[in-house]
Amino acid sequence: MRLMTSIRIPVAVAYGDGIGPEIMKATLFVLEEAGANIEWIPVDIGEKIYLMGHPTGITQEAWGIIRETRAFLKAPITTPQGGGVKSLNVTIRTTLGLFANIRPCVSYAPFVETKHPGMDVVIIRENEEDLYMGIEYQQTPHMCHSLKCISREGSTKIIRYAFTYARNYGRKKVTCFTKDNILKFSDGLFHHVFSEIAKEFPDIENEHLIVDIGSAKLASTPQKFDVLVLPNLYGDILSDVAAEIGGSVGLVGSANIGDKGAMFEAIHGSAPKKAGQGVANPSALLLSAVLMLSYLGENIVAERIHNAWLKTLEKGIHTYDIFLPGKSTRLVNTEEFAKAVVDCLGEKPDILPPASYQKQSKTISVPHNLLHTSSKRECIGCDIYVYAKEDAAGFLARASSLQYHLFALEAIFNRGVRVWPEGYPETHCLEQWRLRFLSVGKHEVSQKQIVDLLAYVVEEGLSVIRTEYLFRIGERLGYSSAEA
Ligand code: NAD
Repeated sequence: MRLMTSIRIPVAVAYGDGIGPEIMKATLFVLEEAGANIEWIPVDIGEKIYLMGHPTGITQEAWGIIRETRAFLKAPITTPQGGGVKSLNVTIRTTLGLFANIRPCVSYAPFVETKHPGMDVVIIRENEEDLYMGIEYQQTPHMCHSLKCISREGSTKIIRYAFTYARNYGRKKVTCFTKDNILKFSDGLFHHVFSEIAKEFPDIENEHLIVDIGSAKLASTPQKFDVLVLPNLYGDILSDVAAEIGGSVGLVGSANIGDKGAMFEAIHGSAPKKAGQGVANPSALLLSAVLMLSYLGENIVAERIHNAWLKTLEKGIHTYDIFLPGKSTRLVNTEEFAKAVVDCLGEKPDILPPASYQKQSKTISVPHNLLHTSSKRECIGCDIYVYAKEDAAGFLARASSLQYHLFALEAIFNRGVRVWPEGYPETHCLEQWRLRFLSVGKHEVSQKQIVDLLAYVVEEGLSVIRTEYLFRIGERLGYSSAEA
């Protein structure tokens, strides 16, 4: 039976690249047959638009449609390799302020082969910051810099979202992974904010693990995790790991949620090698569409589709990625799988827990107010990066005598290692050096005084390639110490 009312919700839809058009067609077929009240408004983005000369992969017209519709359902996009183009996925998430990426990773044993039958983890990935800002530089032939940026505001938003999600969805625990034993500032801030926000949610258990052991434990005992909140890069990597633990990347959908809009997409890419064969698993995109229906308040149809999909898995009707002789009953292609789901509409799974969307709150709204922080900020020095091809002994002899007016040279570093004073000849040095100048007595200095220092260093014959001002923020030094 098709359910349909007259009100149709406008949703932008992009068919994507590679397997995208095949899995989107299958997904829209199921949604239409299930009676989703959606008016689909197609947008052209991705490879075709890149090739037309748009380095962002999206046109102004497409932006207009995406911004005017209530949600955006997007198939995977192929990101051209190499320089000159930006990842469209990252551009859409950041431009539209879609700060939270929600990725439910579930195992479906005994119907889908998995080593971890009990996995039911929701990965909540920060979506706007971290290395995905894509701020990169190459100032010399042999080294590149990529900036990892984590803000207090970005961390506060995503961590509050994760705890609120846990509370609204009856989850018991939120776990955070960072690498703050090494990245004391960026990951350190994320961890610090996590500990602060956790106090606002005494009813939810919280834990923090270093990302390396955390990832190992997620891979070996995923059933011990409930909600995970992660900075952008770790969230991206670990959701693929969790999806594969569950059986396939083709089984995990995702929601990208912001204050003013939302985008829904599979976690996997465009699988170019499988494109055109009609064999890809449409489940990840279908489950993304189910998340979208719930976001739009269409909970009845969301539940109908999710349960029909679970029933299809139970019947053993499987695409190649999860097909297992002996366990699966029928190997199907993309289109046949979608038809099998439609045939199951109205049914519920017999063994897998049925999906229930009816009681779920539509949106999670989190206050974005920051926790109190000191605003006192004083510039007390500058790290000056220079390019010098001479050997270490020659460079250090030349540079270590630099001294300017208010500033003293505190240390010289190569690839993060302090090589002066008290360096060791075993340290392998490359052609980029970092000279740390601090004002005498660590008193505040003006921007003009820093510029004068730079001019002095250039006049002394050094080739400056980058500068980082050094601040004291409140009582804390805003830079990694020479000893750390
Ligand atoms: P991928 O996710 O496309 O493929 C990884 C592996 O998973 C392949 O073996 C593929 O065949 C398989 N796979 C993926 N989806 C499947 C499905 N639905 N059914 C069955 N098997 C499936 O990753 P990749 O090869 O690293 O990336 C290919 C392209 O996708 C790249 O251009 C990349 O930038 C892009 N990408 C896009 C997104 C997105 O649009 N959100 C995400 C990740 C990667």
